[in-house]
Amino acid sequence: MNYYVWTIGCQMNVADSRRLEAALEQLGHTATDRAEDGDIVVLNTCVVRQSAENKIYGRLGSLKPLKEQRPEMVIGLMGCFVGTRDPAPLRRRFPWVDVTMPPSDPQPLVDYLVAHGWVDAGKAALQSRVLRRYRLQDGDLILPARDQGSLVSAYVPIVLGCSHACSYCIIPYRRGRERSRPMAGIVAEAQALVAQGVKEITLLGQIVDRYGLDLPEADRPRPSLPLLLRRLHQIEGLERIRFLTSHPNWMTSDLLDAVAELPRVCEHIEVPVQAGDDEVLERMRRGYAVADYCRLIARIRERIEGVSIATDIIVGFPGETEEQFQRTVDLLTELRLDKAHIARYSPRPQTRAARQLEDDVPAEEKERRRRVLDDLQAGIVGEINAELLDQTVELLVEGRKKDRWWGRTRNDKLVYFDDGADWRGRLARVRVTWTGPWSLIGEVEGVPK
Ligand code: SAM
Repeated sequence: MNYYVWTIGCQMNVADSRRLEAALEQLGHTATDRAEDGDIVVLNTCVVRQSAENKIYGRLGSLKPLKEQRPEMVIGLMGCFVGTRDPAPLRRRFPWVDVTMPPSDPQPLVDYLVAHGWVDAGKAALQSRVLRRYRLQDGDLILPARDQGSLVSAYVPIVLGCSHACSYCIIPYRRGRERSRPMAGIVAEAQALVAQGVKEITLLGQIVDRYGLDLPEADRPRPSLPLLLRRLHQIEGLERIRFLTSHPNWMTSDLLDAVAELPRVCEHIEVPVQAGDDEVLERMRRGYAVADYCRLIARIRERIEGVSIATDIIVGFPGETEEQFQRTVDLLTELRLDKAHIARYSPRPQTRAARQLEDDVPAEEKERRRRVLDDLQAGIVGEINAELLDQTVELLVEGRKKDRWWGRTRNDKLVYFDDGADWRGRLARVRVTWTGPWSLIGEVEGVPK
């Protein structure tokens, strides 16, 4: 049988889809590139903004006639659109969906396939161990066939859910409370990925720095992100380790020390500020002030040589005045960060902001503010990247795009180069010959010493 998985949203969804695909293959199914050809079609969904949710309605609408033509087809809906809530209202609204799965939990699909005789119950029981408990044993395949031996960089979720409840964010309502995975399972997963050809892993969590805080007190030494980084660092063949997303309040000195001291942990930090004004931050319930964030950026830069820092910003949050927006402009100008993802505020059901604050910044004004910050940031990154001209950087080469090899530097700059040799999965020394805000071009000089 053929399966097709459509994924939108965050890196966590990409990781969840990959695990689901590997599970379906172990149960005897084969990937196909088009929903039209799929016997099993899964939509792995995101609702962080209304624009993402609208795409789901589009996809669901296009699946309805397919299901009418082929009633035996299995349609699954997974991720934050489903959430951890009772799926009955969704099933009534979209009766052509056969099975719903909460984020990071593909098990209901496996149960459905067993119940309908699509897979052998014995095989499915083995699969359940991997899916439900993230428990791996030697020989477990956790990548789908297309990625085995070719995927260079993989995501590994380490903290599921979130308990922080920023006032704008729907994630805690859809992904459930914060749960850290036991350290042994994460290490086993990283080892299994390396055995299947992966060279870089990115550890994922909504607040990744909080890893371990919810695990039993009795665990000694107490699991934490710095300890996990040190454990993963010992895995032979794992070239690079990254983690995201950080929260300003949870970035400890231990964590910065681990990044500074461990050569395989990359000098790149993703730590969203969300706004450059204290009153807005308070209404967002972020738990810090602008001055705290600036001090953190200074601490990170002081401790980690060559670090690059990325941030997220929401414009047009309820009540954000022109003056308050201008403070975000000033903050970005002052900090000169390496990346800023700018989003227009989108009210999300259940969240405190949607319930209590009026969405009073007009759509055109949100768009104007987004563009102002995007243009400002493009100029800043353009200047930062221009300093790399004629420098030699180290890349981990991930693959080919537009007939050129591409890879990322340790601090997450995208670099392209031309060469006849096969560089996939290898470290390369590249001299930068052209720079722009979004990417660099270079000439390969050889491999790192
Ligand atoms: N957990 C991370 C954090 O604490 O920021 C990232 C989670 S979220 C998927 C990624 C980004 O989406 C956030 O950093 C935020 O900038 C943006 N975002 C979340 N909720 C939003 C909303 N209601 N409207 C617009 N952007 C939003």
